[in-house]
Amino acid sequence: MTRTSLTQLEARDAFIARHIGPDAAEQAAMLSTLGYASRAALIDALVPANIRNQGALPLGQYSQPMPEQEALAKLKAIASQNKVLKSLIGQGYYNTHTPGVILRNIFENPAWYTAYTPYQPEISQGRLEAILNFQQVITDLTGMGISNASMLDEGTAAAEAMTLIQRVGKSKSQVFYVADDVLPQTREVVQTRAEPLGIEVRTFAPAELAELHDCFGVLLQYPGVNGVVRDYKGGVAAVKAKGAMVVVAADLLALTMLTPPGEWGADVVVGNSQRFGVPLGFGGPHAGYLSTRDEFKRSMSGRLVGVTIDAQGNKAYRLALQTREQHIRREKATSNICTAQVLLAVIASMYAVYHGPAGLKQIAQRVHRYTGILAANLAALGYEISNASYFDTLTVKTDNAEALLATAVAHGVNLRKVDAHHVGVSLDETTSRDDLELLWTIFAHGVKGAAKADFDLVEAGVQLAFPAALERSSAYLSHPVFNRYHSETEMLRYLRSLADKDLALDRTMIPLGSCTMKLNATSEMIPVTWPEFSNIHPFAPDAQTVGYREMIVQLEDMLCALTGYAAVSLQPNAGSQGEYAGLLVIKAYHESRGEGHRNICLIPSSAHGTNPASANMVGMQVVVTACDARGNVDLADLKAKAELHSKNLACVMVTYPSTHGVFEEGIQELCAIIHGHGGQVYIDGANMNALVGVAAPGSFGGDVSHLNLHKTFCIPHGGGGPGVGPIGVGAHLAKFLPNQRSSGYQRDVAGIGAVSAAPYGSASILPISWMYIAMMGAEGLTAATETAILAANYIARRLSPHYPVLYSGHDGLVAHECILDLRPLTDATGISNEDVAKRLMDFGFHAPTMSFPVPGTLMIEPTESESKAEIDRFIDAMVAIRMEIAKVENGEFDREDNPLKHAPHTAEVLTADKWERKYSREVAAFPLPSLRKQKYWPSVGRADNVYGDRNLMCGCAPMSDYE
Ligand SMILES: *Cc1c(COP(=O)(O)O)cnc(C)c1O
Repeated sequence: MTRTSLTQLEARDAFIARHIGPDAAEQAAMLSTLGYASRAALIDALVPANIRNQGALPLGQYSQPMPEQEALAKLKAIASQNKVLKSLIGQGYYNTHTPGVILRNIFENPAWYTAYTPYQPEISQGRLEAILNFQQVITDLTGMGISNASMLDEGTAAAEAMTLIQRVGKSKSQVFYVADDVLPQTREVVQTRAEPLGIEVRTFAPAELAELHDCFGVLLQYPGVNGVVRDYKGGVAAVKAKGAMVVVAADLLALTMLTPPGEWGADVVVGNSQRFGVPLGFGGPHAGYLSTRDEFKRSMSGRLVGVTIDAQGNKAYRLALQTREQHIRREKATSNICTAQVLLAVIASMYAVYHGPAGLKQIAQRVHRYTGILAANLAALGYEISNASYFDTLTVKTDNAEALLATAVAHGVNLRKVDAHHVGVSLDETTSRDDLELLWTIFAHGVKGAAKADFDLVEAGVQLAFPAALERSSAYLSHPVFNRYHSETEMLRYLRSLADKDLALDRTMIPLGSCTMKLNATSEMIPVTWPEFSNIHPFAPDAQTVGYREMIVQLEDMLCALTGYAAVSLQPNAGSQGEYAGLLVIKAYHESRGEGHRNICLIPSSAHGTNPASANMVGMQVVVTACDARGNVDLADLKAKAELHSKNLACVMVTYPSTHGVFEEGIQELCAIIHGHGGQVYIDGANMNALVGVAAPGSFGGDVSHLNLHKTFCIPHGGGGPGVGPIGVGAHLAKFLPNQRSSGYQRDVAGIGAVSAAPYGSASILPISWMYIAMMGAEGLTAATETAILAANYIARRLSPHYPVLYSGHDGLVAHECILDLRPLTDATGISNEDVAKRLMDFGFHAPTMSFPVPGTLMIEPTESESKAEIDRFIDAMVAIRMEIAKVENGEFDREDNPLKHAPHTAEVLTADKWERKYSREVAAFPLPSLRKQKYWPSVGRADNVYGDRNLMCGCAPMSDYE
């Protein structure tokens, strides 16, 4: 081999070695602990031979790993085919300035984007505060009582609102009315959601609101898609008097000037916070929102941050009312939402913190004034404006909409095509005087004798262009947090102070079972903020999105190659949404064969809560099947239930390898049983990190799978979102994949309707997974899987003398995660898995997954990205904790007053003058010598869950707290 080719080879492999934590020597040491000569030998012993991939991954041009710089250059070339025009299309998506301090210190800061969902409140106070701020922004602006911590987008938020009011309302009707000026994509998502639930969606003209009857709910858009701002007060009262409930989709910026729906009778308000500083990104990710009246809080879908107290009685934030969630309620949950849009909600909330109420109002007023200038100038040009009232959107009459749109594009502007004779133009925060001039030029094109008016004179005469009764009089965002961080220095320090409270991947491994907290490499993240990706409107003309669509097709092909499926849809915004979409696809398939009656969904008891919750959403009936003592699906029980329900069997939902961390030997037999009864096999692909390159669900019997790109394919968790949950399907199901007909996106006439508001879901984060796959190549991806499995087995083996490993397969091996059974120790000592989780914080670690899938246990998944040193540090901590438990066992530690029960320990507690505990401060703070060099101090003590739910408080602290 020549010198140059060797260097090239090193460059090609360089990223693989950056992504995979343990080097060759460390892997050899880990393998020798397990008694295997090589990774390959370990995999051979573990993964059933009959499901193994034959041959290399068919990744085509991406088979070879690409060096980081080369992959960036390649993606840049693809991105450059996108054309960034000024999109004034509106329809729910607007240009916005992400404040630089937020862009750099949140969006591009791993302390925020690599954090996990804040299930462990004590190490998550920073992001919990930020999300609480988001809830306050939404509650205030909409005028409602309570808001959740983000929805996946506006369309799904409206769909969730529809099912919410059906749950809590008294009406027996199955009719839901959607106003004809609701965003078309919202209508489509609502329609898709309604169908399997037997809800009939009807359209009505807003003027007829008061006349509606015999319906359980109504959806209004405020302002309407064509710009009209209507006074709905009388109509809402009339329709509510007839027993219906009212959902309003509202624009947050407009609400700074308009009377909020909460003040004119809305029961639920939904929308999108995108225009609060989150780039367009070709449709996402953005944080949707849902707020409602206080009395419906227990029925509300999605996550909710609440205030509670810690063990010392100090204020602490935490996720509240988790009892509503799919983790606990399963098919009876209020929704299937798991991963949401936390990072984007944080950005939107910080946009409000940064601008404050006065700043937001100023932005809104300028947008409104400029719209007025534009309206006056268009009128002077002889155009008729269809909407007499408006906030930021004008619908303009024209002889030839196509010609006008083409003129606009020639001037670098996208307008919205309403119909053959109307175009829409929506202004936003970024609109400047120059843009108004440009718009004048576009509209003046071909108008004889056009003479431009003096903009200043026009501006002086601009009036509010909506009914006076709708001018907002109530205050909002009066809490101190929205009024004290307006200098950049203060803002920077506020963001830093919050980030410092949290443990994210930039400080420690996060060994969360099933959630695959692996490296989110910087080179994967960089393309996300390229303007070619971030400044594209989801409904921009195809000619401007060539690069995006090429990247998307390539990623779909890559995922097909890795999963063995024939086709992939990237539309679902999270794993849960993938499950929902996949089940709809299965339903459509059965219906196409005249077997629409098949509605039984078999789900093993070990399944993730989203599985039954999703089945419920598509109107399927869940039948739970048993697991045996080794954690495997009980095939006999499954077989019996499949036989019992043979005629009506729709599908099975299984996770592979199982959430018990085992490669079940009988998976092919399981698939055959289901297929034998005419059912389809849904394989939950959340554990794909144990399969890539080793086995492919589409090849060993699956018909549909979702993947979690925010687990296996390196999209960061963002503190609980964004996510992407694409589905892969076999060839026979490809034509049923989701469309988005309202935006002209149709894969196949047979396809199901939209499951997300944008055709490609969270398109702007897809480059992350593209980069990962391109940089790893076939060899790197397979090595990652093997190393992830190696690391999990190394931990299991090293910890098994101290804690029993609950389930294992052949030769005592586990898959990519392992479950430690704390229950015998809990019985003997009273020390619970929660105590261990909290004590790990004193050691500077994020806890593993607690009590899923088995109550009383901890589930550990190290991933391939953690070095042996970090894994050993974690093992040392777990062993040290086991020694502490032993001291409780042998009486050296008190059963109640010990460092485990009191964990985590704050600096405040440890430095107090009074210390009356039965163990020393040193034991509490520095249980291992290494902690003296680097110590994380949790900002609160153990959060009181019961207190928080009993005294539910889901908004910012009142003024008095600051005095
Ligand atoms: C994470 C996970 C899901 C849900 O995915 P989200 O992206 O959080 O909606 C479903 N099943 C399993 C096994 C998971 O681990």
